[in-house]
Amino acid sequence: MKIRASIGTAAVLGLEKILLQAKPTTAYLLMYSNTNCLSNCSFCPQAKESEGRRDGLSRVLWPTYDLDEIIEGIITRETRLKRICIQTIRYENSTEDLLEIIGQFSESKISTPLTVCCYPTTKEIFLKMKNFGVSRVGISFDCATPEIYNEIKGKKRGSDISWEMMEKSIQDALEIFGKRFVSTHLIIGLGETEKEAIQFLQKFYDQNITVGLFAFTPVKGTTLEKHPQPDIESYRRIQLARYLINAGKTSFSKITFSKKVEQRDQILDFGIKKEELEKIISYGKPFRTSGCPHCNRPFYNESPGKDMYNFPSELTEEDIAVVRKSLIDSI
Ligand code: SF4
Repeated sequence: MKIRASIGTAAVLGLEKILLQAKPTTAYLLMYSNTNCLSNCSFCPQAKESEGRRDGLSRVLWPTYDLDEIIEGIITRETRLKRICIQTIRYENSTEDLLEIIGQFSESKISTPLTVCCYPTTKEIFLKMKNFGVSRVGISFDCATPEIYNEIKGKKRGSDISWEMMEKSIQDALEIFGKRFVSTHLIIGLGETEKEAIQFLQKFYDQNITVGLFAFTPVKGTTLEKHPQPDIESYRRIQLARYLINAGKTSFSKITFSKKVEQRDQILDFGIKKEELEKIISYGKPFRTSGCPHCNRPFYNESPGKDMYNFPSELTEEDIAVVRKSLIDSI
């Protein structure tokens, strides 16, 4: 059976010889299909109507390998990878293929925790995944509001998966996998305001669902190929607010947002004391990649040498100085 692996993962597994600026701490795998995905998300090169490269997802290349070589690579290098993340695409029989893949992981007795990031499915399928040893499930809303969802990946894109179906499925996943073992993703830069992004983060925090933050990244051949990446200052504020909400140090109701029309609900005050905020910023943790434990997605949204939306490893003093500069108007 074939499967894709991110080029960084393949390098860590000894399947490619490339120099890595940062090594992934999770093995990122993507289901293989020779047809495009049945869904039609406007940012995704795998989408039904995309003309982008089939071996692309966000900024990263995903060559194809035999599942056996991947499993073998993970077994021999198990200590370096702390998680395995299988990302799904939808095609006829994709659920059967997914179960086959995780079944093979289960047979190989790999003890590395397994996440499946998938489209909405039934409780029975979630249960099968769990029985095969999957420890976490991700259902990616990607968009902060139902309106943006409809525009970017829902009804307006001809998709049969509605926001309501996503909500139902994530609740089913929560029932099967339990609190804090279900995740979603939020892509910043799809038209949401900071207030809407924070409302989304709070809503899922309240339900014990982890949110991984991504920065929108235009990919050639997709509908949104000309859409800009989010403003780095705005991304930093959202990262910081996400961290504070998760740490129980603030909440949506304590955060103040601008009322000026041109500032589009920008965060004005995080609802915590300035000294504490300064201290938290200087640790650098809020600006690391977020999501499942040990997910670092190196250079998923950023080009080396450009703005680092998500840092894949500990920030240096220099990184923290750059981050602080981008937050100067907000603290
Ligand atoms: S947060 Fe990382 S490990 Fe978790 S589902 Fe998303 S990409 Fe996979």
